[in-house]
Amino acid sequence: MARYTGSKCRLCRREGMKLFLKGERCMSTKCAVERRQYPPGEHGQRMRRRTTEYGMQLREKQKVKRIYGVLERQFRRYFQIASRQKGVTGENLLRLLELRLDNVVYRAGFAPSRDAARQLVSHRHFTVNGRIVNVPSYSVRVGDVIAARENIRDVVKANLERYGTDSVGWLQVSPEKLSVTVVDLPSRETIGIPIQEQLIVELYSK
Ligand code: SF4
Repeated sequence: MARYTGSKCRLCRREGMKLFLKGERCMSTKCAVERRQYPPGEHGQRMRRRTTEYGMQLREKQKVKRIYGVLERQFRRYFQIASRQKGVTGENLLRLLELRLDNVVYRAGFAPSRDAARQLVSHRHFTVNGRIVNVPSYSVRVGDVIAARENIRDVVKANLERYGTDSVGWLQVSPEKLSVTVVDLPSRETIGIPIQEQLIVELYSK
């Protein structure tokens, strides 16, 4: 399971926006995007922002990949699935990413970031419909119930109290049971990420 292991704040600075990759730090004044509002690297302060059409399309794709912690090959696979589905390809793509198990754990408020959620999932701390699932990319369905296992309940409870739930209509969180039920498919409005997904579709359609 490949994943990016470099500096997360560097990714945000490269995109020029907060991608919320580090949990609590992202809400604080320590956030690197707020402290240094220019791209990373030796020439960051002198770097001109890309304004070509290709540059804009590329940046939108990179933002989405980085927000969800997905590498190129897997992202392209998501795009291929999205383009075969009915409806708007860009929205389908975001919906597929939202339905990842690690994202649902994060959205429910059980982990401070998607990266932390990914780790909890891969360490077998969550069940889906009563069965342990340790695959962060596992795609949940409407009706699925995701629950924290006994050994991690204290950590998950503390996370929930500290960060609150980010459930946005399509997820129903039970703070008592430390579980979350997928009650609907996420819509573009409920996903709420400030991304122009159409640019990604254009990039891959060339
Ligand atoms: Fe991005 Fe969070 Fe780092 Fe800020 S603190 S730059 S939002 S990862």
